[in-house]
Amino acid sequence: MHLVKWEKIVQPKKTGGLGITDLQYRNDALLAKWVWKWHQENHKSWNKWMREKYLISQGTSFADGFKNKKVSSFFSTVLNTLVTHQDKLKIDKEDLQWQIGNGESILFWHDAWSKGIIMAKAFPKLYSLSLFKHASLKQFLDVIRNPRVSETQLWKRNLRCWEQVEIPKLLSHASNFIPCQRKDQMMWAITNKPFNVKDCYDILSGGNQIAFGAYNLIWSLKIPPKVHYFLWSLLSDSLPTAHLLQKRFKGNLILSKCVICHNSDETQDHIFWGCEYATWAWHFVEVWWEVKVSKNNFWSSFHKFKSPSVKAAWGIVLAATLWTIWLSRNQTVFENNKLGRKALEGSPSPQNFTLV
Ligand SMILES: [Zn+2]
Repeated sequence: MHLVKWEKIVQPKKTGGLGITDLQYRNDALLAKWVWKWHQENHKSWNKWMREKYLISQGTSFADGFKNKKVSSFFSTVLNTLVTHQDKLKIDKEDLQWQIGNGESILFWHDAWSKGIIMAKAFPKLYSLSLFKHASLKQFLDVIRNPRVSETQLWKRNLRCWEQVEIPKLLSHASNFIPCQRKDQMMWAITNKPFNVKDCYDILSGGNQIAFGAYNLIWSLKIPPKVHYFLWSLLSDSLPTAHLLQKRFKGNLILSKCVICHNSDETQDHIFWGCEYATWAWHFVEVWWEVKVSKNNFWSSFHKFKSPSVKAAWGIVLAATLWTIWLSRNQTVFENNKLGRKALEGSPSPQNFTLV
């Protein structure tokens, strides 16, 4: 019986999962890396060899280059992965941007090196006339800025007036370009940094969402692993309470009332906040620590304390209180160890609370 969805379990701990690796996503992230390499390493010999073998011109996106071609099973798997996850990953050509260094790896017409613009698309007429369609950014600018290079060496024919006015606009994109020693760096627009498999995995598994503070808190507490897991289940609203089990079984196999007070349905909220046993335990914590604890301020109560050691101690008290309430409930359900009124009438002490 699954009480938490697999999609949640494979998320990192900080966003509410258990950080379990999903092998399918891991494999897809490794395959997606090839799309990145295809564009990043467009000047390397393996890339040139592939382009010549499959008749793919330089600057073509991975999907456009390989679709409808009989390629090796490996590259067709990469293509499938790309097509399946394109909306989430945005890793083909249009979504990659360049941070300019020496300008030698960037294709002037085909790569998005200025504000995400691809010059071949923004200036189609000039591109169709260019004799340097596959020049790097540095090569192209060296040639066009060189006064000794004539117009006929640059373009297929002399430009008309309305074509010439386009040139300053084209070159304005490179007006700040000063070649430096650093290599050009391709950036993945989605993370604004170079591709890495971990980021890609996080995006596929949904783990790139904003971390939820309460989950971070749980895993930072110095408590036994089983209590970590218990707190995680509590926060994920997946403790096997009678209410939840009945919902899942869709029947009346289980009594749904609270086994301690018999007054309400046994929901998580009731066990930990509504039940008289919970009230009894929280009242003691409140008196002991002089902090008001409720369901609504539970996680934010950590911010009341500045000192990390006091914060840690407070976390242990909260964990121990919740764990004790849950253990008492379980003992009542499974060991018929009914909590007598006596326990509720007496005052609890720290010895009543446990983490084991
Ligand atoms: Zn109750």
